Amino acid sequence: MDTKVIIIDTDDMQEDCLKEASEILRAGGLVAFPTETVYGLGGDALKEDAARKIYEAKGRPSDNPLIVHIAKTKDMEALARNIPEKAYQLAEVFWPGPLTMIFQKKDCVPYQTTGGLNTVAIRLPANRIARKLITESGIYIAAPSANLSGKPSPTSAEHVIKDLSGSIDMIIDGGQAILGLESTIVDLSGEKPMILRPGCIIKSMLESVIGTIEYDPAILIKEPDKNLIPRAPGMKYRHYAPEGNLTIYEGDIRKVVNEINLKAKDHFERGNKVGVIATEETKALYGYGTVKSIGSRKDDASIAAGLYGILREFDELHMQYIYSESFGDNSLGQAIMNRLLKAAGYQMVTIF
Ligand code: AMP
Ligand code: MG
Repeated sequence: MDTKVIIIDTDDMQEDCLKEASEILRAGGLVAFPTETVYGLGGDALKEDAARKIYEAKGRPSDNPLIVHIAKTKDMEALARNIPEKAYQLAEVFWPGPLTMIFQKKDCVPYQTTGGLNTVAIRLPANRIARKLITESGIYIAAPSANLSGKPSPTSAEHVIKDLSGSIDMIIDGGQAILGLESTIVDLSGEKPMILRPGCIIKSMLESVIGTIEYDPAILIKEPDKNLIPRAPGMKYRHYAPEGNLTIYEGDIRKVVNEINLKAKDHFERGNKVGVIATEETKALYGYGTVKSIGSRKDDASIAAGLYGILREFDELHMQYIYSESFGDNSLGQAIMNRLLKAAGYQMVTIF
């Protein structure tokens, strides 16, 4: 299949720039598009066949449900039942934005879209291309991240082209995804609201609107635990895995730098390809291997935005060993570490 790539400038969008993309979606085809979190791979959420094509293009296990994207809050009523008042309060504050909410599904949403579940995940994204695409196509767009299953999520159109060119109809290049981490997922289908996936909208922000909210215990772990099965099916997979062996070091930052230098030197001298995930503050302190800065410790958001890109860059350089600093678990740090730990297969060393 030929994949058409179109470039759209968010600040200078022409009236009819999404006409063809909308037609493809209405006809049951697949279009990758930018959102503020990561790029999404979109298809008609109410068509079983479109959902099936999404799983096929990504090589995604079919029990891993898709998020349905809408263009106005009221649209959730067409897809979900028993929507609690808290959902409207959260939507009022955080939509459009990087928040996904889970409800009991209505019959019109096929089980192909929800991975066999009786619940449906819904988001109203902020990115202007994404919103125009949903409005113009006139459909609800099911969209997981537009990467091959098991690869880091795509934060640029180049990432999508590498993974999916030839297997989908169109890719819309709308520049860099500004946040770089997938949406926060909150389950509102049960008695108590629960965070199923941490993201840029953090627990305290949610609590300031709807009061106490719990984390799914399975997402806070620092090592795999067979007895804890995440409630968001996608969280159980070893996502975001780079090709190389990734190890995270946590502890006093000077000791961490020393330890990584020792490891990197050792592998470097044995002729192995070594990558180091450093920060603006520490990048000059490393002496071996390929050193890349993920962002600045003074700006958590820069680290979140840089994470997937750096993992992909190291894949392209065929790094065999990758060492990373850790990023604490305050606020955004929790979402960053959740992704980084999975990428590392929970390989983390604490330096005392
Ligand atoms: P992605 O868009 O690739 O980040 O994948 C969507 C994420 O949303 C996956 O981790 C899914 O497991 C999660 N998700 C989607 N629908 C549901 C649902 N009904 N219940 C729980 N998690 C969901
Ligand atoms: Mg994904």
